[in-house]
Amino acid sequence: MQVQGPLQNLEQWDDFVGERYKPNKKTEEFRDYSKTTPGVVEFYRQNHARQTRAFVLDKKRQYAGLTRTRMSIWEALDYLNTLVDESDPDTDLSQIDHNLQAAEAIRRDGHPDWFQLTGLLHDIGKVLCLYGEEQWAVVGDTFPTGCAYSDKIVFHEFFDANPDSKNPEYQTQLGVYEKGCGLDKVDLSWGHDEYFYHIAKPYLPEPALYMIRYHSFYPAHREGAYDYLMNVRDRKMFDWVRTFNPYDLYSKSDSKPSVTELKPYYQGLIEKYFPSQVDF
Ligand code: FE
Ligand code: FE
Repeated sequence: MQVQGPLQNLEQWDDFVGERYKPNKKTEEFRDYSKTTPGVVEFYRQNHARQTRAFVLDKKRQYAGLTRTRMSIWEALDYLNTLVDESDPDTDLSQIDHNLQAAEAIRRDGHPDWFQLTGLLHDIGKVLCLYGEEQWAVVGDTFPTGCAYSDKIVFHEFFDANPDSKNPEYQTQLGVYEKGCGLDKVDLSWGHDEYFYHIAKPYLPEPALYMIRYHSFYPAHREGAYDYLMNVRDRKMFDWVRTFNPYDLYSKSDSKPSVTELKPYYQGLIEKYFPSQVDF
């Protein structure tokens, strides 16, 4: 199944973020987005214009109740793998390959099993694309809706086209929120992070849930924005989100991991933490 939107594939967004935060980048290159692929620019234009607060609340009503289907976690990984990119299928790594690479890098560094499992599963929410959601509603740097947009958000200027930017109630620093209310009360832009968070919530430890829910919240975990919405717990847990981020961005390699060899190990982890059928 092909994904709808201006990106050639979902990895194009990941690659853009990886490039943006590449270690040792020269300061003059830091906010120079002039060489960004037109598809990526158009993707952000759509994302920033269309992720309104009303849209986010609507998608939560539609998906966060997890009434769509039931399947095993491995079935979900296989299902996600049916997302195919336009590029050459022989050289391209599949979604499972990318996720296994992240999990294996985490395992090599001696992190706990639930952390490894998080590496494997953190992007399962991208199955939203298979439900027919467009790219701008599945991936992209996430940001709070219902309050002022931080200028730390990439392509901040595209928010001019978002109807919420004309709503004075939403354009104060706190908007509809209270200072220090905690991120759990904040409605971030909708996408694969939030969706899989709801699926995994009953089963994984708290640091894993933070990694899953906020891994695309770059304005906060990389830029330090929106601290005034966080509580003490969020600040502490964001250390885990930051620990996870390099595995998400930089564990990709061209060597294809052997799914048959690795499946028994990860299937064991899935069985340790999840029941055989999970609500989606
Ligand atoms: Fe992701
Ligand atoms: Fe990822």
